[in-house]
Amino acid sequence: MAVLMDGTAAARTVKDEVLRRARALRERGTVPRLAVILAGDDPASEIYVKHKMRECGECGIDGTTHRLPGDIRQDELLALIAGLNADPEIHGILLQHPYPPHIDSFAVRCAISPVKDVDSLHPENAGLISHDRPRFLPGTPAGIMMLLDQYGVALSGKHCVIINRTHIVGKPLAQLMLARDATVTVCHSRTADLASFTRQADILICAAGRLRMISGAMVKPGAVVVDVGVNKKPDGKLAGDVCFEETEPVASYITPVPGGVGPMTRAVLLENTVRAAERAAP
Ligand code: NAP
Repeated sequence: MAVLMDGTAAARTVKDEVLRRARALRERGTVPRLAVILAGDDPASEIYVKHKMRECGECGIDGTTHRLPGDIRQDELLALIAGLNADPEIHGILLQHPYPPHIDSFAVRCAISPVKDVDSLHPENAGLISHDRPRFLPGTPAGIMMLLDQYGVALSGKHCVIINRTHIVGKPLAQLMLARDATVTVCHSRTADLASFTRQADILICAAGRLRMISGAMVKPGAVVVDVGVNKKPDGKLAGDVCFEETEPVASYITPVPGGVGPMTRAVLLENTVRAAERAAP
């Protein structure tokens, strides 16, 4: 039976420290502030943003949501970002993913000031991660690393297999794992014979967004399994990419969905915001 890696409990430890730092900043006259831009009415994004705002409040951060219609013009979105960049009271800016399809995501990532880019997606910040000099921690990848650390999972010499090659998850996570001396394989939708890779993984990270894609037979006995996927089941409940009941008896450690990677991702965002405020404070 695998040990359950409890992201809610692990995130509590990170958030307690964020609250301590936010209080110290407030005592010095700086209120840490995060601006979240939500374009469109995607129901999942609404829930994610609500969680972020609630947790900002819990951690002494002043969070504001800027709601925009799904058909917002790119120039209007860039004008809002320019205003937030110029506002000295705002320390962190985040555009909730996924963006409306007509928005040029690269242009938006470039528009957010790198010193307020608490999602760490600006090319400058992505470059700093690849040079092992992160300005901000990338949310989901750093959340996964913190969770593994809290459970004492060593990375050096381990084979980590990541199913995801995006700028948000797979690429920065591969870099963080390489920096910790893991051997990393990155898989994606064109990978031939995915199971031949997953069965080699000492640490398997699944972030495809495909319900029950990973069966127990695809997991090496004793592997550490991190399930990033968030999928809606036919009954409306959430579940990951990993078939939990088949995999849990095979793995040594496993994350639940929900309550695994998600809370850690949000905790990193809060940590980045307080870090940005500390840097900006007089
Ligand atoms: P995405 O942009 O759709 O990327 C999915 C990645 O998985 C892509 O690299 C894709 O390959 C790969 N993939 C898809 N189907 C595959 C298959 N059958 N075999 C192998 N690889 C496959 O999605 P995302 O935004 O990265 O999110 C992925 C999942 O993680 C979603 O369920 C999302 O909700 C969840 N998520 C959770 C958190 C959290 O904090 N818990 C944070 C971020 C994302 P290609 O590149 O070839 O298309």
